[in-house]
Amino acid sequence: MNSQLRREYLDALGLKTWTLRTAHGTADAPSLEIASGATSAAPAAVPAPARDVSAMREAGVDWDELRARVAACTRCSLSATRTQTVFGVGNPHADWLIVGEAPGAEEDRRGEPFVGRAGQLLNSMLHAIGLAREQVYIANVLKCRPPGNRDPNLTEAAECLPYLERQIALLKPKIMLAVGRIAAQNLLGTEKTLGALRQQVHRFGLSQVPLVVTYHPAYLLRTPTEKRKAWEDLKFARDVISRV
Ligand code: SF4
Repeated sequence: MNSQLRREYLDALGLKTWTLRTAHGTADAPSLEIASGATSAAPAAVPAPARDVSAMREAGVDWDELRARVAACTRCSLSATRTQTVFGVGNPHADWLIVGEAPGAEEDRRGEPFVGRAGQLLNSMLHAIGLAREQVYIANVLKCRPPGNRDPNLTEAAECLPYLERQIALLKPKIMLAVGRIAAQNLLGTEKTLGALRQQVHRFGLSQVPLVVTYHPAYLLRTPTEKRKAWEDLKFARDVISRV
């Protein structure tokens, strides 16, 4: 990506003049210390061992069959209130997997994750690190919208995570970017805050895919002062994948 285009995307993020700096005024080199990803079984997130077992339900299923199973799924009560399932979108050979929490109203209506204003900001965030939306794969922990955009409960996440596990097994990404607290907590099986999970390399599931945590674009739209931290996280993730 040329520097002019990149500058335009950074402008969209509100980061026109910002650069990472250390106390000595040079660009930060993020630590690549590995964090222990799934350390605690917490009521707000699906414990990692349960995830690994439940993921076997979809073992051996290909993309088409997986998509059909999700479209017909009634494993949790969200099937009764959804307009349609939101399977995921993007390049099935992508190195990057972006994982959010659950579909919102617009996603539920259109059947695609991260559309609307939050989706546009996510696109800008990706462009800022040289990625087009079409180059990555985007999915959610939950495939159906929780009514009123409430947080997913433990049962819903436990029932739905096997689909994402199978997507990950088929995709074999080099890195996962968990966007938002709910996605991060469910993927890592922890109750830690998003602030405590940022700027570390976690490892996801049996595949041990590197996983980096950042803010959800919907949150950044409400709290634009945090965009600089999101930019730090994106640069951190880009540094991580460059070393894979
Ligand atoms: S949220 Fe997931 S488990 Fe629940 S009905 Fe939708 S696809 Fe099935």
